Amino acid sequence: MSYPDKIKNIYLTQLAEIQHAGIFKEERFIHSSQSADIEVEFPSGSDLKKVINMCANNYLGLSSHPEVIRAAHEGLDTRGYGMSSVRFICGTQDIHKELERRVTEFLGTEDTILFPSCMDANAGVFEAILTSEDIMISDRLVHASIIDGMRLCSAQHDTFKHSSMEHLEEKLLLHADKRLKLVITDGVFSMDGDTAKLDEMVKLCEKYDAMLLVDDSHASGFIGKTGRGTHEFCNVFGKIDVITTTFGKALGGASGGCVSGRKEIVEMCRQKARPYLFSNTIAPVIVSGVLKVFDILSASTERRDKLEKNAAYWRKGLTEAGFLLKEGNTPIVPVMLFNAKLSQDFSRDLFNEGIYAIGFFFPVVPNGQARIRTQISAGHEIHHLDKALGAFIKVGKKYGILGLTKDQIIEKYGL
Ligand SMILES: *Cc1c(COP(=O)(O)O)cnc(C)c1O
Repeated sequence: MSYPDKIKNIYLTQLAEIQHAGIFKEERFIHSSQSADIEVEFPSGSDLKKVINMCANNYLGLSSHPEVIRAAHEGLDTRGYGMSSVRFICGTQDIHKELERRVTEFLGTEDTILFPSCMDANAGVFEAILTSEDIMISDRLVHASIIDGMRLCSAQHDTFKHSSMEHLEEKLLLHADKRLKLVITDGVFSMDGDTAKLDEMVKLCEKYDAMLLVDDSHASGFIGKTGRGTHEFCNVFGKIDVITTTFGKALGGASGGCVSGRKEIVEMCRQKARPYLFSNTIAPVIVSGVLKVFDILSASTERRDKLEKNAAYWRKGLTEAGFLLKEGNTPIVPVMLFNAKLSQDFSRDLFNEGIYAIGFFFPVVPNGQARIRTQISAGHEIHHLDKALGAFIKVGKKYGILGLTKDQIIEKYGL
């Protein structure tokens, strides 16, 4: 054991650098359950403030739904608190298998394997199904967990420009000689809220004998007319070889993820995926909660329909007020400010007006593309959205950006 000042200072220096770069992350403490209305404390010890939450992944408003909570209680009472085992030793309950069946049915795949998280699903899947004779071709904007998963895999790797089908085709041609080709994309991209062109990607994959993997974490439960995901939205339901997704966003928001897709691929994961083999799976209380989420979603599309209406209302309101948005048709609505400091000032002023929405800037988004990313929920009522809109307009007027073009905002605030 040795922790002299010399070592300590190495870390202190790095932490100071992060502070200096203005990218030090500070957590705010929420003193209520996750919902449209939350009570937030800043670590600086400010008073609790009631705000409207515009930045949760709680798309369907199910994170504190009474029926989900009741189901979780029942799961706790009937199946206990923990399994104290990984799945293949003595950690598989009947409800784990039931959830795998439900996910398979919902996503329209052949089979499903649960993971402790989608991060773990992505960490395990590539290594389990590919070797050094194979190639992974990924969109340049895929989620960090996919990047990490690809790093853990011995297959070769290449990328294509974000959503460029021409570039993807070039890469498929370039790698025609590889044993297996796996094309990899997010279904909905979380920073811009745009959707992958899965219809075109399926065609290209069929033409060049490639498999397609879609991470649908920001889509499962609400994108597509019955909420099955981006494959439903793009009319390629049943045609995706591998889908990874999370239960930590729309589907109750607790934790857990899965790989769902071709039977053999799921079986390879069961045999070889290391986060599955060496980490405890989802606790019974969460499995029970997610099962209830699927009951709710199968019974009616009411929640995803409401979410769609809310998101359209929000987009229209902001656009009419003169804000610049990233185009899209998802509940992720980025309000573009371009300048990093402006995004931070804007976010702080919104908070003072009772609206909780975070400003993102480099390196989370490309340089000069700072923004407030808003995320709409079925848990929002029109009065929430109207209040938030009022606050955005008030702060937008303060900074004089309403009705300005991108160039005008940049001229005014710089990059
Ligand atoms: C959130 C997210 C994940 C991680 O999900 P967890 O279950 O919280 O680990 C993975 N991929 C994408 C695209 C995500 O948005």
